[in-house]
Amino acid sequence: MSEPLLIPCPSCNGLNRIPAERLADQPKCGRCKSAVLLSKPFELKQGDYVSQIKGDLPLLVDVWAQWCGPCKSFAPVFEQAAAQLAGRCRLAKLDSEANQQLSAQLGIRSIPSLILFKNGKEVARQSGAFPLPQLMAWLRSQGI
Ligand SMILES: [Zn+2]
Repeated sequence: MSEPLLIPCPSCNGLNRIPAERLADQPKCGRCKSAVLLSKPFELKQGDYVSQIKGDLPLLVDVWAQWCGPCKSFAPVFEQAAAQLAGRCRLAKLDSEANQQLSAQLGIRSIPSLILFKNGKEVARQSGAFPLPQLMAWLRSQGI
């Protein structure tokens, strides 16, 4: 038996223990019964940040804003990536306008920005929108 993975629930921030062999079975949160692993990006708010960067699956955050054209064109790419990476990497979107304090804390200078977290720490960052193959290649170079 492998060690269970610790994965925060995107809905309630509860930390779930999920056996690796059950990752593909659409596990539900022990606290709120919502799906723990999504095949689409979830919305990250600054109050959830500390809870959501934890856990055994990496978290990729897309920092965006409503007024940003490149952010909008990047959104479908990010959604496709979420579908392809379900169970391997969690994807979240951070609205930099609605979460200005967290954006400042993260030192966001341009958007879109992508930040990759592993085990609660930032491990990589990229600015600018890029096509899906390039995004997947970058993630592969980060061991995802
Ligand atoms: Zn939950």
